[in-house]
Amino acid sequence: MTAPQANKPKTNEPKTNEPMQNEPKTNEPITTEVCVVGGGPGGRALALALTRLGRRVVLLEQRAGGARAFRGESLSPDGVRLLAGLGVLERVREHAHEVHRLEIADGGARVLDVRFDAFPYAYRRPVELAQPVLLAALAEAADEHGGCTVLEPASAVGLLADGPMIRGVRAKTPGGIVEIRAQATVGADGRYSSVRRLSGLERGARRTPLERDVVWMKLPFPAAWDRRAYRVRISSGRHGLFLPSTDGTVRVGLNIPKGSLRELRSAGLNALHDRLVELAPELAQEAAEGVTSWSDTTLLDIFTTDVRRWSAPGVVLIGDAAHTLSPILGQGVNHALADAAALAPLLAGALATPRGGRPAALAEAVHAFQREREAAVRRSRGLQLRQERMFTLASPPAAALRRTVYRALNASPALQRKVLAPAYFPGQVPAPAAAPARTEQRT
Ligand SMILES: Cc1cc2nc3c(=O)[nH]c(=O)nc-3n(C[C@H](O)[C@H](O)[C@H](O)COP(=O)(O)OP(=O)(O)OC[C@H]3O[C@@H](n4cnc5c(N)ncnc54)[C@H](O)[C@@H]3O)c2cc1C
Repeated sequence: MTAPQANKPKTNEPKTNEPMQNEPKTNEPITTEVCVVGGGPGGRALALALTRLGRRVVLLEQRAGGARAFRGESLSPDGVRLLAGLGVLERVREHAHEVHRLEIADGGARVLDVRFDAFPYAYRRPVELAQPVLLAALAEAADEHGGCTVLEPASAVGLLADGPMIRGVRAKTPGGIVEIRAQATVGADGRYSSVRRLSGLERGARRTPLERDVVWMKLPFPAAWDRRAYRVRISSGRHGLFLPSTDGTVRVGLNIPKGSLRELRSAGLNALHDRLVELAPELAQEAAEGVTSWSDTTLLDIFTTDVRRWSAPGVVLIGDAAHTLSPILGQGVNHALADAAALAPLLAGALATPRGGRPAALAEAVHAFQREREAAVRRSRGLQLRQERMFTLASPPAAALRRTVYRALNASPALQRKVLAPAYFPGQVPAPAAAPARTEQRT
């Protein structure tokens, strides 16, 4: 459905907390049960899960068409499980590329080789899945189910407030301003969340910049490499991620010191090629072919955001809006999906019945949601920060210690399970030894 076009005088209630200048025309308000702001993995998964539970949703997405480059292609095995739970795994399976191994090489030597099939879980392998494909599958499933109205492009620019209670969103669309009145509003609007800011939840947020930024780029896939492996290459305090992409290329995340892109750019493209080749000498030709201008690269400013309270009366945050993570070990999409899966039944159960509103039940539901999810987010964040520190150890003794740690991990399947389970299998219990993996041997 597209944004309504009808022009209508502004009504008195509820009030918006962010007045606009040069206001465009105001349309007929829309009333729904849940207004989801943001059509990323978290927002789309939540909309689908809520409609499957019989709830009505209006979803706003500021960008039309779902085009997103260099975003969240790595999905952990637990994310694959969550997609199966939402009934969309079969829709994306033919576009997903399964990964069997994680290989870390440090100082030119392989120090860790993780085999995902050795883990005792039903969903064992991560997959690479382009975000537009994932988002289209979630949107299609919600559309087929019915109950979800999508306004796209539509930007949330204000919240509707009734005293302390948020009652919906004020959105800017090509057809003018639309008010979406809802019993619950969900901020699934990502790492720079407007809902977080407008609701005042930003005040309790702590943003921690990491020591590195990441320059992303795609290169031709080298013929000699195994397409089923994630590779991390470390050299002293520098590292890069090399991930097989579904479009047949290798997605490279090259770590650079925080804020040093300008310096790198002024040194010229050859300096970037040299950095890549230092980590992966066999990629010299691919680097020269794949990156011919700076427009072939994207910078990700890495920070984590720790939001103390994920909800205020009538509004709740999920995904990156509630907890921005770093890209290490591909955790962001998984947590956004896990938030949606956890929140949907709590919210659906707490929404008003035809007999009347239940604000207390809604408040209890969103608190229960945060209690259920924040420990897992904290564990992922801790693991990412420890990894980040390990990767940046630069002095020879510290780098030697790092190699020893990885080799110890390599030698012990039990230790691998302990260290990697919070990242890859947090929602799964070990399967009986004979149980087959639920992910198929396709690649
Ligand atoms: C370069 C890069 C690489 C990454 N790689 C990985 C990876 O390999 N694996 C992984 O798991 N994670 C990765 N991430 C992180 C991952 O993309 C996020 O964690 C994940 O997308 C979070 O999902 P989300 O739905 O919470 O937010 P988002 O995906 O950010 O979606 C938010 C949506 O809200 C919309 N929006 C924002 N403001 C408004 C508004 N006011 N009104 C309406 N709509 C609005 C945005 O357009 C967007 O579509 C990467 C991130 C980046 C930037």
